[in-house]
Amino acid sequence: MDNSKNLAQAIRDKMKADNKRFWAGDNISEYISEEDKSQLINEATKAFEQVLDTLLIDRENDPNSHGTARRLAKMYFNEIMAGRYDPSPSATAFPNDSSDRYEGMLVVRSELRSMCSHHHQPVTGVAYIGIIAAEKLIGLSKYTRIAQWCARRGTLQEELCNDIAREIEKATGAKDLGVYIQAVHGCCENRGIMAHSSLTQTTVLKGSFKDDAGTKKEFFDNIKMQQEFAPR
Ligand SMILES: [Zn+2]
Repeated sequence: MDNSKNLAQAIRDKMKADNKRFWAGDNISEYISEEDKSQLINEATKAFEQVLDTLLIDRENDPNSHGTARRLAKMYFNEIMAGRYDPSPSATAFPNDSSDRYEGMLVVRSELRSMCSHHHQPVTGVAYIGIIAAEKLIGLSKYTRIAQWCARRGTLQEELCNDIAREIEKATGAKDLGVYIQAVHGCCENRGIMAHSSLTQTTVLKGSFKDDAGTKKEFFDNIKMQQEFAPR
């Protein structure tokens, strides 16, 4: 790689030329190879070093701050924003079309770790994903993998709720589904109003979850039962 040209700049130029949106909550995996990722981590390390220098933190003599720039760069790419750079988790769909096919509701609870795109503060919570089993089924762990792939970006909880619903619909083909998220936001707890017990709830309902009162009630009853079983 020619060091005179910064790779991040080259990738941004390409996305702009393609009219590809690259907001904090967008997946841009098709523009980044594994090899690119290590180069981008090097570039981000340099940039974080500048931020620490500007914050007047002695990263040369403070042993705790010595490797911080690199730790931050790796954490962004490989952990808290990994859902932007990694392709969608493969979710093999199994047919659900035998004569004794399952036709009931399925509610999966997924632990979520995300980050608000406004302050880059942690968002911690749970998503309850409900579907009425359709023509195909995916493995139970895939619901959580998909939800976490959507969450590990810079998000707003409202957008995250929509993103999870859209990706679950894509993976399962289900038209009847609901996503309910309950989360606490670091940007309310650690700064601003410093409210430690504030909880935000968002709901996306589609198909019968939205239009049929019985289905909607069953979904929320299931959530309540799950919360009683393992409260958080
Ligand atoms: Zn925030």
